[in-house]
Amino acid sequence: MAWMAIMSQPQFENFTASSLYCEKCKASMPVRERLLLVLPGKEIFDYLCTGCSSSVGQREVTEGEKLMAQAMAGQSRRRAPRAHQLMP
Ligand SMILES: [Zn+2]
Repeated sequence: MAWMAIMSQPQFENFTASSLYCEKCKASMPVRERLLLVLPGKEIFDYLCTGCSSSVGQREVTEGEKLMAQAMAGQSRRRAPRAHQLMP
């Protein structure tokens, strides 16, 4: 991949979704995240440059990633109501 070579900048650690390189502005610009499309199984976000409002990138959030987040939040789903389990 040839494009890897030009990404050897010292501020590489600062690469986040909130700032992407814009070809029109010729610089790394802060971006706005916009929900572009909702599909069964995934959502697609569009990143717009705050300088010129052109699209500088897209990101997919898959169902798997969302499930991962849910799994982290609560390990088990609600099965049967067992309130007495919470009693001391
Ligand atoms: Zn721009």
